[in-house]
Amino acid sequence: MRIILLGAPGSGKGTVAEALRSACGFPKVSTGDLLREAVREKTPLGLVAAAQMGKGGLVDDATVLALLRERLAREDCRDGYVLDGFPRNLAQAGSLDALGLSGPEIVFDLRVSDQVVLERLASRRSCPRCEAIYHLVNKPPKKAGFCDVCGTALVQRADDTPEVIKERLKTYHAQTEPLVARYAAKGYLHRIDGDAPAGTVLRDVRRALDAALGRREGAGS
Ligand code: ADP
Ligand code: ZN
Repeated sequence: MRIILLGAPGSGKGTVAEALRSACGFPKVSTGDLLREAVREKTPLGLVAAAQMGKGGLVDDATVLALLRERLAREDCRDGYVLDGFPRNLAQAGSLDALGLSGPEIVFDLRVSDQVVLERLASRRSCPRCEAIYHLVNKPPKKAGFCDVCGTALVQRADDTPEVIKERLKTYHAQTEPLVARYAAKGYLHRIDGDAPAGTVLRDVRRALDAALGRREGAGS
């Protein structure tokens, strides 16, 4: 089974992926996390990716696909996984189809307004070591400035500045949003109100997932 999370930057893909991992055991596969890891380790691929990420555009498809293939080949992805941040354009969606899959494919579109995105990303802090995500108001760490999971000092991501956020939103609307119609046409798409508080979003995702997997009792709304 493959769960794909679509949505603008700041729509909550990472939070949903993390919740699905702890509820269902499916690993979270985030191309953003994989790229940032490559950047931190200054691999040749990371050095190329850093420039593209810093401007708010997309890293080239071949680079991202190479990272993704390597990640999906790992044992923990055998029975299913949650994709956060991939596919991000039509070509990547085609590549994903070509990778094949056993079991269902379920797509969630986390719909958020640009205004909510701007507010959320300005208050977002993340752990440079384990990629845990915090929000200064809605989800503050227990000890101010430090990761609950691993204790590392939290940072504001280099691309969470107002100018780069604007570019990322543009990139999203131009290249990624068209995927919503693609997956809707296949009948795999579930629309979720991403402007809602995290608890509501997670409840809606769980309900839609249960319904999609045929556990339909109580699925009235
Ligand atoms: P967000 O969804 O908040 O923008 P991500 O962590 O998913 O954050 O991505 C950060 C950056 O990494 C993107 O702006 C882009 O440059 C790059 N990136 C992530 N996933 C992909 C992808 N599938 N294809 C190309 N570039 C990607
Ligand atoms: Zn951490």
